[in-house]
Amino acid sequence: MFFLEKKDLPELLRRAGAFFEIIAPVLVNGEPQLVSWKGEDLALSAPNQLIPPTRMFLPPRETLFAYLQESGLYTFKVPEVRNRLIVGVRPCDLRALSLLDRIMLSEPADELYLKRRRSTAIIALNCTEPSESCFCAQMGAGPEAHEGFDLLLTDLGEGYLLETGSPAGIVLARLSEELLERGDDAEKRNLMRESRERIMNARPWLSQDRMRTRLREIDWRSLAKDCISCGGCSFVCPTCHCFTIADLGLPDGERIRCADSCILSGFHRMASGANPKARPEERLLSWYMEKLEHMLIRAGMPGCVGCGRCDRVCFSGLHRTDIFR
Ligand code: SF4
Ligand code: SF4
Repeated sequence: MFFLEKKDLPELLRRAGAFFEIIAPVLVNGEPQLVSWKGEDLALSAPNQLIPPTRMFLPPRETLFAYLQESGLYTFKVPEVRNRLIVGVRPCDLRALSLLDRIMLSEPADELYLKRRRSTAIIALNCTEPSESCFCAQMGAGPEAHEGFDLLLTDLGEGYLLETGSPAGIVLARLSEELLERGDDAEKRNLMRESRERIMNARPWLSQDRMRTRLREIDWRSLAKDCISCGGCSFVCPTCHCFTIADLGLPDGERIRCADSCILSGFHRMASGANPKARPEERLLSWYMEKLEHMLIRAGMPGCVGCGRCDRVCFSGLHRTDIFR
């Protein structure tokens, strides 16, 4: 356990940059976004980014492979995966990654996802200043990270408490040994307790059990009158992972994978034209069933980590935490 002065974090990242592409949050037009970092001011004290870091592993659109036909035979070219270090991943997003691992890496494992996971190191950031929309504590996903990181930062004001969580994290810390002092976690424990209390006190009535009970009580038809089925909630959700695949080009071309969502009107449409979930209320309910019940059965953890992004993005003001009140 170490202490790192804030002014020294960019230097630690520059040294890591000899081995990794550094992906870090910076302000773009006033909004925090993960970008390929080239020394810009870090936006680690800004709210969590709207586009989650899980999209670094399952991008909205990607090439799975290119195909080339010569003399009737196909050859395939798979994309290169670079070593990356993602900085400032919040505990809720770490939990979402762990859920995606259980889904994408169950047999047969998704090769591209696996390659990206293996070549990516993570510097996580505990949430000492949760946003108004956060309910990670109620979902058991935050505000403190316990696993899934290589290095973990906790903002102590002048500097960060820096903890290692893997052999790669130990190597990263050693690269900047002389920048580190010995740290202790007494202040962190207080900060995390306060942060957790703040989140719980903001919505003392909210719990996973309550949400599951409400699934069967809510009048989904009246609620869905306001939903325009834009898919925004799903595309910013760190645990959503549905996709569609298309082959573009003949005889040569590429196979692409694009994010899809069960909340979109055509998602459930079958080849016959029949659509078992044609109405928005059916899709909204099934989205929540998937998150709160089905993923628990399939992956052993709920499919909502309480990041609050769906509340932040919804044009129609359908706030999840109000829905389940
Ligand atoms: S359902 Fe909403 S709050 Fe839950 S993980 Fe997805 S975006 Fe975050
Ligand atoms: S963001 Fe809001 S309006 Fe859009 S699909 Fe989700 S719930 Fe419906």
